[in-house]
Amino acid sequence: MNHSTNFEWVTETLTPDAITQYQVREVLGREDTPFQSMQLVDTVRYGRMLLLDGVVQTTEKDEFIYHEMMTHVPLCSHPAPRRVLIIGGGDGGILREVLRHPDVEEAVMVEIDGRVIDFCRKYLPTISNGAFDDPRAAIVIDDGAKYVKGSHDPFDVCIVDSPDPIGPARVLFQKDFYGNIARLLTDQGIFVRQTGSTFVQPAEQKETLQILREIYPFNALYVYAVPTYVGGFFSSSFSSRKIDPATVPAELIHKRFSKLVPGTSYYNPGLHLAAFQLPEYVKGNLAT
Ligand code: SAM
Repeated sequence: MNHSTNFEWVTETLTPDAITQYQVREVLGREDTPFQSMQLVDTVRYGRMLLLDGVVQTTEKDEFIYHEMMTHVPLCSHPAPRRVLIIGGGDGGILREVLRHPDVEEAVMVEIDGRVIDFCRKYLPTISNGAFDDPRAAIVIDDGAKYVKGSHDPFDVCIVDSPDPIGPARVLFQKDFYGNIARLLTDQGIFVRQTGSTFVQPAEQKETLQILREIYPFNALYVYAVPTYVGGFFSSSFSSRKIDPATVPAELIHKRFSKLVPGTSYYNPGLHLAAFQLPEYVKGNLAT
């Protein structure tokens, strides 16, 4: 193995039986917050990388894929998203993409750990790219599950950008959390959440959709590949009471896509529609 000995390596431990290591140029920051351990390293291949509890959250080089697919699939499926709720998302990437929609009037981001926001503003400024200071952004430091339980504000889209169901994120995978979000969504409201790797975390998609099917009439999974999210196709769930992702008019998607300034680096209307076409193994996992 050609491990250069004069470099440090950071180890991704999502799958302890199949670890991934990234060559590190510099360790920029390490901190244990009351919620999780944070690491910010500058890697040779992917640039700066945020890890929480040893799991890669986002990197400078490939963050655009995840943040664009998690944001523009719901926001280009909704006719006029004015108020968007983001749960988690401490690095600011989802917030940045939401605010690129000119008709979004308010984006409320509920992040449990203020230290993640501070850390990412300092070490990963390109990801939030000023979004935290946008007058339309409202940043709330709170547990997302507690926030939605106590809120009565209507939202057009809710995006859950949480880590996997470990530590403080565990509550963001429970039925009462999803039920409270459904209560806040307007009639044409859309709910999207990350549902992990289709190859190494199939239970995450299966269990999430089983719960969501009890709440929403329309539910679908969509897939895309993120180099530093191990295990092949990564996935998100899409749920709504009124909007079936399979029948969103392509002209609406194109119209909303054309309003994005500047353009995207991954997302486009063709990919939006194609992402819902699932491989047989993924369909099989959801069917059993
Ligand atoms: N894109 C990453 C992924 O797919 O795993 C997630 C990135 S983002 C950094 C995850 C954020 O969720 C973290 O900042 C973490 O602090 C936050 N978080 C975890 N549990 C939470 C909770 N219960 N309420 C609100 N935010 C939470």
